[in-house]
Amino acid sequence: MAQYTPMIQQYLRVKEGAKDAFLFFRLGDFYEMFFEDAILASKELEITLTGREGGTEDKIPMCGVPHHAAEGYIQRLIEKGYKVAICEQLEDAATTKGMVRRDIVRVVTPGTVMDGKILSEKSNNYLVCVTETDGMMALTACDLTTGELYVTSVLSGAEWLRDEIGIYEPAEIIGDAALLDSIRGEALFGAKPVVYTPWEKRDEESARRQFGEAAWVRLEKERGQCLALLISYLGETQRRSLGQLSQISPYEPGNYMILDPFTRRNLELTETVRERSKKGSLLWLLDRTETSMGARLLRRRIDKPLLQRSPIERRLEAVDYLYNQFIVREDLRLALKEIYDLERLTGRIAFGSANGRDMNALKLSLAQIPTLKEMCMGSGSATLKEIGSSMDECAELREDIERAIVEEAPVSIRDGGIIRAGYHARLDELREASSNGKRWIAELEAKERLATGIKSLKIGYNKIFGYYIEITRSHLASLPEGRYERKQTLANAERFVTPELKEKEALILEAQDKMTDLEYSLFTELRDRLSAQIPRLQNLAEKVAEIDVYQCLAAVSAEYRFVKPKLSDGYDLAIENGRHPVVEAVLKDSAFIANGSTLSKGEGNILLITGPNMAGKSTYMRQVALITILAQIGCFVPAASAEIPLIDRIFTRIGAADDLIGGQSTFMVEMADIQVMTEKATPRSLIIIDELGRGTSTSEGMAIAQAVIEYVHDTIACKALVSTHFHELAHLEESLTGLRNYSMAVQESGDKVNFLRKLVPGAADSSYGIYCARLAGLPEGIIDRAYGLLQEIEHASPVGAGPRVYTEGQERKSVMSETFPSVPYGRSVQEAAGSSTGLINEEVSTIIES
Ligand code: ADP
Repeated sequence: MAQYTPMIQQYLRVKEGAKDAFLFFRLGDFYEMFFEDAILASKELEITLTGREGGTEDKIPMCGVPHHAAEGYIQRLIEKGYKVAICEQLEDAATTKGMVRRDIVRVVTPGTVMDGKILSEKSNNYLVCVTETDGMMALTACDLTTGELYVTSVLSGAEWLRDEIGIYEPAEIIGDAALLDSIRGEALFGAKPVVYTPWEKRDEESARRQFGEAAWVRLEKERGQCLALLISYLGETQRRSLGQLSQISPYEPGNYMILDPFTRRNLELTETVRERSKKGSLLWLLDRTETSMGARLLRRRIDKPLLQRSPIERRLEAVDYLYNQFIVREDLRLALKEIYDLERLTGRIAFGSANGRDMNALKLSLAQIPTLKEMCMGSGSATLKEIGSSMDECAELREDIERAIVEEAPVSIRDGGIIRAGYHARLDELREASSNGKRWIAELEAKERLATGIKSLKIGYNKIFGYYIEITRSHLASLPEGRYERKQTLANAERFVTPELKEKEALILEAQDKMTDLEYSLFTELRDRLSAQIPRLQNLAEKVAEIDVYQCLAAVSAEYRFVKPKLSDGYDLAIENGRHPVVEAVLKDSAFIANGSTLSKGEGNILLITGPNMAGKSTYMRQVALITILAQIGCFVPAASAEIPLIDRIFTRIGAADDLIGGQSTFMVEMADIQVMTEKATPRSLIIIDELGRGTSTSEGMAIAQAVIEYVHDTIACKALVSTHFHELAHLEESLTGLRNYSMAVQESGDKVNFLRKLVPGAADSSYGIYCARLAGLPEGIIDRAYGLLQEIEHASPVGAGPRVYTEGQERKSVMSETFPSVPYGRSVQEAAGSSTGLINEEVSTIIES
């Protein structure tokens, strides 16, 4: 240490407090980085690496960024998953003897950014905190930008933790090191990289102060401890008051449908499996929100479907009303359009980073509230009325801003020009003085032109010399000697001053300094006043978001001809002509074929679905899951009618997603998922398994598949949709009373196969695998050989299904129909298709013709 210069020594001392972050060390107009930080940052930010004398033989590696451009560089590092500690000069260098004091004022981490590109308007940026206290696991999810703070806990379970974290898709996870290790590498928490920060310290005192004694004592111990850890982390990284975190939202995990990260992805709730993009997901289809907070609330609702009828009914009531009231919906939309992101504006006000434009955005947003409130109160919906009547217009806050801030506020709050005339007497006086001074200068210019006869004489101003009189070289000769004091010589002009001019200049500058200081303090006073009202603004934002979500769901429901679901506390599920909302919306050339679903206790709670690849099996199974989710978030559903029992959890085992988990074989992943399912599923759950038993040998796969189906049937007794390519499993229908065989109808004509996308009773008897291979363009030689081999194999084992032969108009014949007479094969495709789900026969014929 001793060999370093005092400045480097200071740097090293500060760096001790930010070992896991880049230290942006303020030196005058730059933030400098040294040593390892400099080497890495120069690479990551593509800036030049230089060196600086620091007392040692070799120069110390250094790189830097100008302070006014630091924001962009910080954002880039954060996006890459780094943290940045910002170290400022705490004293004015001009008035300090020796070295100025410097210290970290804030550590920016991925979970605590307050602005920048990394924040998406339509999604939250969560910092999740996990702890274990007395055997209880607790989780806190905090969005510093909006002030949302959720806390929950359960008895135990790493799986629960994984599922719950998955919902928040956090940018950063902090907490007990051991817990972090148990969930690290899940890679399922979202498309963004997650930063793990082990943190042990809990600061109960500060947490108590932050949330108030009354709220604190109501908290379960483990939840309080979790918040105490969060507050300790925020205290040490943010180093300022966080007024936006004023309200805790505790919740019971048992009140929501459980959707593990696999299921959320398999069902493509908020992003697609392949591209991991929002486009193509359920959220994408539903999102007609007009405000950012509405968009975020919609997402939260999709992530957390409800389990109790009454709150769902309350939501459906509002959607139902707006579904039928096009004009009200449009009016609401127009009002909502004008509302800015109240939550984030509020967050910035509390954080002390709001500027004049933010204030005006808040003002304009608040101006819409009376209209919105009135529309809700005047509506025919009990839910909307209730929201409307509890809306606090915050009118005096709006007026306060209106009085204080100019219409076109500048970005900076330090350079003046932000406070309206008439707001503050002293400010008006200073402005008057300054503009008098400027007028005086303008008059001086006119006077001097006259006196010297030099028309091009002008008075200018620059930061270094202040005010000056400028005379071009060609006119110098006509200037009387000694009239002005020479100050600066330029290539083609001379600049002069007079004592009088300097005197006025001092007055003007002083007034200006005072003015900007005063404006700044008036602005921060206003911001502090608003800061004290944060909870009111947050409550208001919540109401606005809720209204927005209702108009959005109503609009989508109306556009796609969804219907109001009937919710029941019973067991049976009945969907008439259900559709997959997203597949339907993106199908361009053809119509979506609706399929019904009836899942009733003991007599068809398990559907075993067979049919070739591409027949529409997984679309069908997903559509049932999506319809229940839509119903339980309080949205209409894509069906002719739907009676939905409240589903407590959806399990999915669907191919595609498991390619993404490196290292484990598909089969192991499948088995691990099934294990969780056997442990956690209740009779109220819905299980969806696509292609059960693949990834191992045929006989083993089939054996496991059968055993799993029997377990679901006998032990769990929940609703299940299982697709399989083991057509041999169709015989289970005989032994399991709750199982029904279904297949996706396919029609052959000539050497072509037509997918009818229609669910029909009975098992399929060919997977058309070789046919698909031909469609994919495999050489004819291979195709012929495969057909030959198939015949040989089928000849050898009579259990295997022969290719089903049924051409237009003909009845189905199959080897299996003889083996398993319970399968109703004695009907034509059209008949079976039409009868099972009420499809209009013309629809089928159109497809057949095409
Ligand atoms: P499988 O799981 O049987 O292999 P998919 O469910 O993946 O088949 O469906 C294959 C494709 O068929 C889908 O991408 C979709 O475009 C189309 N499809 C599926 N179901 C329907 C339907 N009911 N109506 C119209 N097209 C459908």
